[in-house]
Amino acid sequence: MQENEIIERYFVKNRQRHDVLLPIGDDCAVVKPTPDTEIAISCDTMIEGVHFLSDAPAAAIAHKLVASNLSDLAAMGAEPAWMTLSLSLPKADANWLDAFSLSLFDMADYYGIQLIGGDTTTAPLKVLSLTVHGLLPKGQALRRTGAQVGDWLYVSGTLGDAALALHSLTQTSSQRVVSDAWAIEHHYHTQPRVRLGQILRHHASSCTDISDGLMTDAAQLMMASGVGALITLEQLPLSTVMQQKMPMQQALEYALYGGEDYELLFTIPVHRKSILESAVKDLRVPVTCIGQVKRQPDVAYRWQGQPWEAQSDAVFQHFTS
Ligand code: ADP
Ligand code: MG
Repeated sequence: MQENEIIERYFVKNRQRHDVLLPIGDDCAVVKPTPDTEIAISCDTMIEGVHFLSDAPAAAIAHKLVASNLSDLAAMGAEPAWMTLSLSLPKADANWLDAFSLSLFDMADYYGIQLIGGDTTTAPLKVLSLTVHGLLPKGQALRRTGAQVGDWLYVSGTLGDAALALHSLTQTSSQRVVSDAWAIEHHYHTQPRVRLGQILRHHASSCTDISDGLMTDAAQLMMASGVGALITLEQLPLSTVMQQKMPMQQALEYALYGGEDYELLFTIPVHRKSILESAVKDLRVPVTCIGQVKRQPDVAYRWQGQPWEAQSDAVFQHFTS
């Protein structure tokens, strides 16, 4: 299959947003935002063997690629609008492309984001890169920098499931602690908290998404705001599967150090706590208060009233120097 054939067959779709003036097919796409909007832009890359296992299903890879990118838009409170896809593949495998593109467009249609362009090349291994653009009302981007001393610290969903799922998938089948279906669901098919992010624009003082694990992302959020936090480990939201399959110590480690949950971590001013809780009631995405912002610029953890020492070597890092 030639490059043009791949694009035509798998990535050109008729459905179109009204703010896309020129879709796939020319040298550039042309879009037209309304005058009172700002545009949030983010890019995320997934490399075979680094961000996904070589035997991961194509549909799972596509879902995770879109979900991880939309999670960044969610963290800013932006409404998904347009995306571009850079696709590097060792070969043009029709079955793989079929499953990949169907899953990609499932996500795109669900979240109302349109694929407006991209690039298709060959490479020794699969490298997928997506750039997403989201719309924001003027001056309303939800940033990392606004947390104030006394604010409550919240997290959405449950923590650690993506890491537990990945761990299970890398074991031999007899040693897998959770079912493969659960693992694929919780490692690859996460749902970006897009709607929650938009609601948080009206309530939160700061927000980020958890891609590198609570410990890393909480430290970054607090550092960006020039404050610290005290987190109560008993409050961390753990899934039923996590609680049933893992001893508490191990569950806490997954929740703190495991990445790729793509939940939102945010701060709420004291006087908005109950307003926030009623604003998100209908979402069916739980939000849990896990701590409070404090003046001293570090993130401290407590377990049953005692200080809890972090294990800094457990944090996953791409570049260790
Ligand atoms: P150029 O050589 O000018 O960069 P291409 O021939 O690479 O253009 O691409 C033709 C059109 O197809 C462009 O509109 C480009 O954005 C789009 N395109 C290429 N690859 C992809 C892809 N993987 N997904 C979506 N659109 C793509
Ligand atoms: Mg060109």
